[in-house]
Amino acid sequence: MNFEQFNLDSRLNAGIRQAGYQNPTPIQESAIPLALAGHDLICTAQTGTGKTAAFVLPILHKLLKGPRNRTRALIITPTRELADQIHQSIVQLGRATNLRSAAVYGGVKPGEQIDALRRGVEIVVACPGRLLDHIHNGHALLNNIEILVLDEADRMLDMGFLPDIRRILNFLPNKRQSMLFSATFPNEIEQLAKQTLHDPQRVAIGIVRPAHTVSHTLYPVPQHLKKDLLFRLLEETKTDSILVFTRTKHRAQRLSKQLTRAGYNATSLHGNRSQSQRTSALKSFKQGSFQIMVATDIAARGLDIDSISHVINFDMPDTADAYIHRIGRTGRAKRTGDAFTLTTPDDSDLVRKIEKIMKQDLARRTLEDFDYSAPKPENPQNNQKQPPRNQNKQSHRSIQRAR
Ligand code: AMP
Repeated sequence: MNFEQFNLDSRLNAGIRQAGYQNPTPIQESAIPLALAGHDLICTAQTGTGKTAAFVLPILHKLLKGPRNRTRALIITPTRELADQIHQSIVQLGRATNLRSAAVYGGVKPGEQIDALRRGVEIVVACPGRLLDHIHNGHALLNNIEILVLDEADRMLDMGFLPDIRRILNFLPNKRQSMLFSATFPNEIEQLAKQTLHDPQRVAIGIVRPAHTVSHTLYPVPQHLKKDLLFRLLEETKTDSILVFTRTKHRAQRLSKQLTRAGYNATSLHGNRSQSQRTSALKSFKQGSFQIMVATDIAARGLDIDSISHVINFDMPDTADAYIHRIGRTGRAKRTGDAFTLTTPDDSDLVRKIEKIMKQDLARRTLEDFDYSAPKPENPQNNQKQPPRNQNKQSHRSIQRAR
């Protein structure tokens, strides 16, 4: 199958070519014709599958017909980085159209967003909180919305955004096309789908497992030796860009400082950094000026960075689902990637769950000349104490602040 078979508006071909897409991905093959036919959709898909273009292309195609200077498509997504990424995708795929898009999210001054909304944009890509502010201040007018996308719906649920989303839905016309994308479907998301979508078609591209181009290795290690083991792994491994995940913002910050002190080009992406720091860290990492980025799950959700050769879980994630999302950051677009996970005995239940989902035993590796019996240092500063698993379970408000 090729893109021509969708009969997309010819102005979209330039964008598809520039993006370097030859053939549609499975989610695009299934979702694009249904979306073009005007159906509501429920799509089971995670990032890395090409799901963004699966909704962006039908949106652009539809908006090329009909009036300009009014907001006709709304995409709601959980994080600022994702909003930016989707916005960039719209700009790229829509390069030969004069359709305009604005990314709307908190953590930056609202002025530029207000100007863009005033000038009139056909597409708004938004995180829920800031969008509500713009609605209440009269800057975002949503009564002409024809297409709604709820992206990463399960993540929005985890981050406590569902009440905000329901509020936003009140401002949209009932007659519209809606598409919901989610990697998992807990009850609340099924409920939301029922209330939001009309007679939806379901598109699922099989069980969501990481690309088979990724190899997985577990590195059992006592908690207090994680940092030393990581440094050893970095010394002995040939890598391109590396994304390291920690469980907390504090640990991300601290580890990135330790890496920098050890001479690595490292930065961090987590909710304690300002929006401008986050934007610049991500940009520099993407461009390769930083080789290592240490991140928390929320901040790094769904990031699309081609050059990542290694994902290293310095801390095990909270759930098997989060493991799969993290690993999805490497091995993209048929490249190969490696996933290293530093595990402590506390992680064994989760390891079993992941192996079950992946339908494979993950390789365990120990380094021959690494001293696994080195004692804990006296100084508690150097002792990377394991933060409790539920540390991320904050109140909705604090999660919003933490992003
Ligand atoms: P997504 O799942 O939307 O985050 O997309 C993951 C990556 O796949 C992005 O880098 C896209 O640019 C890329 N991509 C999307 N569709 C295609 C396609 N048809 N062919 C090749 N790459 C694609």
